[in-house]
Amino acid sequence: MNILAALPRRTDLPLPIVGLAVLAAACSPASHPADVLILGGSVLDGTGAEAVMADVALVGDRISFVADAAATDVEALDTVDATGLVVTPGFIDVHSHAELGADHGRDARAFLFQGITSVAVGVDGGGANPARQLGAWARDGIGTNAFMFVGHNWVRRQVMGMADRAPTDDELDQMRELVRQGMEEGAYGLSSGLFYLPGNYAETDEVVALNRIAAEYPGAIYDTHDRDLGAAYPPFGYLKSIAEGIRIGEEAGTKVVFSHFNAQGAHNYGRAREGAALIEEARARGVEVAGAHHSYTATQSNLRSYTVPGWAVDGGDTAMVRRFDDPDSLALIDAQTREMLAIRGGAERLLLADPRPSLNGKTLQQVADEWGIDAPAAARRILREGNASVMNLGLYDVENIRYLARLEWMMTCTDGRDPGPTRPVTHPRAFGSFTKKIRDLVLDEELIALPHAVRSMTGLAADFLGWTDRGYLREGYVADVAVLDLTELRDMATYENPHQYSQGTAHVLVNGRFAIRNGEATTALAGRALVRGGGVFDGPH
Ligand SMILES: [Zn+2]
Repeated sequence: MNILAALPRRTDLPLPIVGLAVLAAACSPASHPADVLILGGSVLDGTGAEAVMADVALVGDRISFVADAAATDVEALDTVDATGLVVTPGFIDVHSHAELGADHGRDARAFLFQGITSVAVGVDGGGANPARQLGAWARDGIGTNAFMFVGHNWVRRQVMGMADRAPTDDELDQMRELVRQGMEEGAYGLSSGLFYLPGNYAETDEVVALNRIAAEYPGAIYDTHDRDLGAAYPPFGYLKSIAEGIRIGEEAGTKVVFSHFNAQGAHNYGRAREGAALIEEARARGVEVAGAHHSYTATQSNLRSYTVPGWAVDGGDTAMVRRFDDPDSLALIDAQTREMLAIRGGAERLLLADPRPSLNGKTLQQVADEWGIDAPAAARRILREGNASVMNLGLYDVENIRYLARLEWMMTCTDGRDPGPTRPVTHPRAFGSFTKKIRDLVLDEELIALPHAVRSMTGLAADFLGWTDRGYLREGYVADVAVLDLTELRDMATYENPHQYSQGTAHVLVNGRFAIRNGEATTALAGRALVRGGGVFDGPH
């Protein structure tokens, strides 16, 4: 019998539920070659344990072996020398805006070069039509694994448009139905962006009611971009906002993840520990709450949210522009825009990352100066043509970041939107969040240990997501693997020149296939569309 022909090959593995006992028997190390053998690396398994020297063998899309290959006669069709390198589980980005559906973003290279092999999308309340999204990824191919949330902002807009009011009973029922549909289609839970519109128009109870639908599905997660990270207008309150997010999860009965968790604004420098204390109190009483962060001090969002009060957008953008043209409304909007800009450190702190060439790379103040008008007027002139992507420089504080990085429940995220060629200036976080965290906080500052940082990027996230076969380097687990050269590892993207892949990522395997090999991207689109629980999307249910 030809033993190789009997092996599970990557092309015919019945996924996602491979009988592990069968697989383990088929992969008994001495009996046949593995597909890939990663030799002599320093292995961090994702648990937070210290590294051990070990070889990692892969068969098809699974890890078949983590131990000493020489002692057990493991051979392989393909061998990678990892001497002097660190081998980790592929990193999990629990909050991204990866543009996997666009030609420029499908291969997800900005993420892969950070060692990321799985990304969450549909966050901040934006997740729409899970089955369509998952189906498109499955059909067209994607560079990383990806999974999604169904978004409260999307659901509310579908049913109520941009109305600044509470839903009727009938409208709430329609929203519930959309959440249910999203969960049926494989969403990981409900995401909300109560800072954004129309989410901001919702009272807490509305979100609890919708999250209760998500809670009917085991393991559901409530992903919150909370109402007031510290720089909201009108102010809701930084701590009140965190308490609201916890309450929405606790009352509905879901887990909660605070995305890009931090305290915004100069007046909140040093205050992240107060918000973290609320989360720790909730964890102590049994609520499964976690956070995710990155280590950049700039945010990226949209100009309307940063400069126009919510009431002025009631009814949508056309209604907003009508208010710009009404002298009484305009006077109030203008005064409030000035207050909003002050909270954000001024118009010179708002750096436009918009595709429009006349805006990209300029601060709002520069644009205003060019046009010979003041900043609030410049913001309105831009918004008349459509909302614009913008960064807010210096909104986060490095001391807060350092504090958060030490917490044992803090995962890592990029919050990144990988830009197309029309955005020469954009937030570098899409290219460097994970590598920057390791470079700055582990290697340069020695603030946190490497196993702790790697755990925040792997096993911690996998456990939170309810995955049972990804996120760790263990026999039988899916072969999402990163091999890093710590002497070279660094983020290269800057605010001025963001289109720079991270360096030091020697190899990345996604579902057992090389996505990066010897520091070069392959053409593999090896990612899979994942449904809640970690299974692979196999069509609408
Ligand atoms: Zn967000």
